[in-house]
Amino acid sequence: MGRLSGKVALVTGGAVGIGAACVRRMVAAGARVAVVDLPDGPGRQLVAELGEDTRFFPADVSLEADVAAAITATVAAFGRLDILVNNAGIAGPNKPTHELTEAEWDRVQAVNVKGVFFGTKHAIAPLRAAGGGSIINLSSIYGLVGAPDVPPYHASKGAVRLMSKTDALLYAADRIRVNSIHPGFIWTPMVEQHVASMGGDPEQHRREVGALHPLGHMGDPDDIAWGVVYLASDESKFVTGSELVIDGGYTCR
Ligand code: NAD
Repeated sequence: MGRLSGKVALVTGGAVGIGAACVRRMVAAGARVAVVDLPDGPGRQLVAELGEDTRFFPADVSLEADVAAAITATVAAFGRLDILVNNAGIAGPNKPTHELTEAEWDRVQAVNVKGVFFGTKHAIAPLRAAGGGSIINLSSIYGLVGAPDVPPYHASKGAVRLMSKTDALLYAADRIRVNSIHPGFIWTPMVEQHVASMGGDPEQHRREVGALHPLGHMGDPDDIAWGVVYLASDESKFVTGSELVIDGGYTCR
């Protein structure tokens, strides 16, 4: 028996990076998993590789109708929903607050905050029908501490932290647990593109940022996926409203 045998999960932003690592680890632990991501990304290839325990449902998490349809399709395909991983996220422009446009601010909130709201809103009925479940929201260390860059991103991740605690309280009586994960510096396509878009050298960045960590290196997507498997499984049945920091010790200082 796997740690997630019999369970059905949905991972937003599951096509690449941390989300794809979560999909792979959850399938290996015995879950059936819906990958929900933008239509033109590699989500289809991932489920073609992983086989019948996975499905791809294209959706933009900033659009309520897309999210609702993806959750309905997941329940239609697999018969239930036990686990929602609200992982889809974007970084946003690295500009000081006084240079940001309203549209730049709004887009980050639409994906990172409203996407979590829509996912949670439409998952509650099937999670209740399953007798309870687990919602795992991807925040960031920058939902815990400040940093002098990317203001809309940090605001969005702070919001996700407290949405998780609020929903933990709202749905505890339904046996729906809600927790946030706070990754530190994880090497993914999002980070690589962000560094390149700033004119930096990705490999040099990886080495230099890694050296700032007490553990001496950046994390990889599996470091987060193992935390997701734990919070998704019944091993964490007494854990709700908690903040799991996975950052190689970066925020200890
Ligand atoms: P990534 O860019 O590698 O992957 C993000 C995925 O989300 C992609 O597949 C993308 O297509 C999808 N996505 C983006 N916008 C979407 C939308 N509107 N609708 C549906 N899907 C959408 O990112 P990642 O590094 O794997 O990050 C995953 C999550 O972890 C994000 O919420 C991110 O903020 C958070 N996080 C990442 C790091 C890190 O260092 N990588 C650190 C802290 C938090």
